[in-house]
Amino acid sequence: MNAGPKRKEIMTRETVDRVVDWFARSEIPTIDLTGGAPEMIPDFRYFIERVKTLRPSRRVIDRCNLTILLEPGYEGLAQFLARHKVEIIASMPCYTAENVNAQRGQGVFDSSIKALRVLNSLGYGSDLPLHLVYNPVGAFLPGPQAELEADYKRELKNHFGIVFNNLYTITNLPIARFASYLHRNNKLEDYMQLLIDNFNPATVSGLMCRNTISVGWTGEVFDCDFNQMLKMNWRNGNGPLHLWDLDPATVENREILTGNHCFGCTAGTGSSCAGAIV
Ligand code: SF4
Repeated sequence: MNAGPKRKEIMTRETVDRVVDWFARSEIPTIDLTGGAPEMIPDFRYFIERVKTLRPSRRVIDRCNLTILLEPGYEGLAQFLARHKVEIIASMPCYTAENVNAQRGQGVFDSSIKALRVLNSLGYGSDLPLHLVYNPVGAFLPGPQAELEADYKRELKNHFGIVFNNLYTITNLPIARFASYLHRNNKLEDYMQLLIDNFNPATVSGLMCRNTISVGWTGEVFDCDFNQMLKMNWRNGNGPLHLWDLDPATVENREILTGNHCFGCTAGTGSSCAGAIV
């Protein structure tokens, strides 16, 4: 995506309250917080406390870049997440320093390892759920998820003593920053063809847009994060639809907005926010 620490979008307290109030009216069992770095929202902890107070058994997920846990100003964040039993899904593009630093920047691998050790010491990877996310560093599809997970587990345990629960393999969609990379390297057409050639109809019933809705930082509603990036929002007359104007009972059986980027979710074993689909 085009996320990064210099982005200015911040969900306000008013929007947080309106989102949580809507959530309270619904039976949706999971709230999945992503960014950028969702922890940078000033009301991040307030958000989680409110959601957990509503119904402690509800599943709350933090999509964490790991390095934020070590940044000044975020002291106690890992402990806060553990205390509220927040599930962590962390980006870790590889188990080697070379590949992680190439994709995320110099020094990110060492910081990620340090953060994973902190999480393990709090019970993540054993008593609390900790999952890692792999996405290819280049214009190719991810390898088989189970095999890669076994590699990650072996390497991270043997070299760093780190444990985690599951690895999710996620295909790069040809939008935003990755589309610019493909375009610059004259690979956009070939990558689109690769996705189309690998279309797998068995993935369609498990697409994340079929059981998830995506809510932007201003409360606008989308079918998924990718559609959010492409500004393909649900409409309310001539304007965007905000979550608080949506009747929770009407979320099911809606029509999903699709485009060529959707081939990224249906290629090979498929790709969703929980990794491979089939
Ligand atoms: S990109 Fe398309 S197929 Fe993938 S989750 Fe979004 S709407 Fe569904």
